[in-house]
Amino acid sequence: MSTTQNESVSTRVVDAIRSAIGPRDGFIPLHKPTFENHEWDYVKECIDTEWVSTAGSYVEQFEEDLAEYTGAERAIVTVNGTAALHVSLRIAGVTSADEVLVPALSFVATANAVAYLGATPHFIDSEEKTLGADPEKLGAYLDDIAEVRDGTCVNTQTERPIKALVPMHAYGHPVALDRLQEVAQKYHLTLVEDAAESLGSLYKGTHTGTIGRLGALSFNGNKTITTGGGGAILTNDDDLADEALHLVRVAKEDHEWEYFHDKTGYNYRMPNLNAALGCAQLEQMPSFLERKRALAERYRDAFEEINGVSFFTEREDTRSNYWLNVLLLDNEVADRRDAVLEATNEAEFMTRPTWQLLSTLPMYEGCPQMDLSVARSLERRLINIPSSADIIT
Ligand SMILES: *Cc1c(COP(=O)(O)O)cnc(C)c1O
Repeated sequence: MSTTQNESVSTRVVDAIRSAIGPRDGFIPLHKPTFENHEWDYVKECIDTEWVSTAGSYVEQFEEDLAEYTGAERAIVTVNGTAALHVSLRIAGVTSADEVLVPALSFVATANAVAYLGATPHFIDSEEKTLGADPEKLGAYLDDIAEVRDGTCVNTQTERPIKALVPMHAYGHPVALDRLQEVAQKYHLTLVEDAAESLGSLYKGTHTGTIGRLGALSFNGNKTITTGGGGAILTNDDDLADEALHLVRVAKEDHEWEYFHDKTGYNYRMPNLNAALGCAQLEQMPSFLERKRALAERYRDAFEEINGVSFFTEREDTRSNYWLNVLLLDNEVADRRDAVLEATNEAEFMTRPTWQLLSTLPMYEGCPQMDLSVARSLERRLINIPSSADIIT
């Protein structure tokens, strides 16, 4: 393909982004936090009252607010989303003998949480219509390589148990949970949702992260709401919730002065300062979601007539939070991806490619994997464009 065409797809993308968000001065980041409510008051209160650490009242308040917002029976807040995933997998029973099915197309935390337990990530493919795990392809693959022995799914190629399935709702778009749940049931896999990117996203009217046995949220600085750093474990199972709470408080037994810990726990509890920020941020979810949706609609309209590239929209039966807006380049112009990234960043619209497939990172290279052709194609064609809630005022 000629250089002229090379320039033209980049130019078309820059023009479409500009027309969607209107004239702006300065650099537009991919996703910056929006603080315009009680953030300062609540955080100041922590400092004024000297309750800054994990014993403060905002910690439980934030948990109650999250449970109410998501419809989960319980929420346990943690220092970050990776910690929430780590603990979720541990209480799902994952041990160093096991494999865990994770999408190759995800942020590294999904696989790291598995590796922290000494377990082996087993990489699975995505489907283009959800950007997440493909249930049909996974089902057919497991029919091929796995069998259930005494209630445990075993990988017949490695002889290791496959304990859990961790679908991830990429960029806020819910995966096909019904059909994934069927696969999980057939193969006795515990479903743990990586809902780090999907606070506010619904699957058939139910909040993502509450359909699996456990779900993990993240409140990192670039997520839909932020606590600086933070995460949460969601579950409808009281026993699992109690276990999670115990583990994130270094497995310390309640006592006025004794130090007794009955397991190797983690210092993973969210501090009060961060939870205060979280309470203030969560109050703004309806407004953030509305403005992010309005931005997505403008992008959708702006990209409708643009050749070579499509704007990714939510699937039927789902409601996306449009955390990070997604462009997919057509196959024919996939080789222009870097040119598009360069042109948009030069025009002061921050854009980024998707993650490198986790199966290709040095520490995960030897791990088991199924055919990853769709994930590989998405890896070459996917670009994130500016998505902050405050782009639309
Ligand atoms: C953000 C994120 C996490 C958790 O990240 P933290 O930075 O540890 O809060 C986990 N999985 C995915 C897919 C994420 O995007």
